[in-house]
Amino acid sequence: MQVVACRNCGSRNRVDESRLATSEAKCGRCGEALQADKHDSKPTVITDQTFERDVLQARGQPVLVDCWAPWCGPCRIIGPIMDQLAAESQGQYRIAKLNVDENPQTASRFQIASIPTMLIFKDGKLIDRIIGAQPKQTIAERLRVASRFAA
Ligand SMILES: [Zn+2]
Repeated sequence: MQVVACRNCGSRNRVDESRLATSEAKCGRCGEALQADKHDSKPTVITDQTFERDVLQARGQPVLVDCWAPWCGPCRIIGPIMDQLAAESQGQYRIAKLNVDENPQTASRFQIASIPTMLIFKDGKLIDRIIGAQPKQTIAERLRVASRFAA
């Protein structure tokens, strides 16, 4: 079970995850369909097409973009760390993933020479870059610094 706030009336509903996933869950008070907040619980998948909107136009919280590829061993270590950081974000930051093989335009724009590389953006500016598989604690600390950064 999970507690989800209704977007229409704000009342908190206890719902079964499987009903939430298939969009069958309705608010007990007003009947509005309940939606899980996917942005906060999972990394957002970014492409060359969505990069501008989802990363550069984002305001407020920092956005960390994990640049990765399926054949990269260290990226497989970072993947689950990204999932955990996304699940623990509590609205302080956003986690995104960019497959560099499928999105060469963004990868070359930010000169991604080795992967994994994590880019941290705030208010449309690149403010930090983390290269290589780093411990979760290190990445979390850089995100904390980024969230205090004033552009
Ligand atoms: Zn409601």
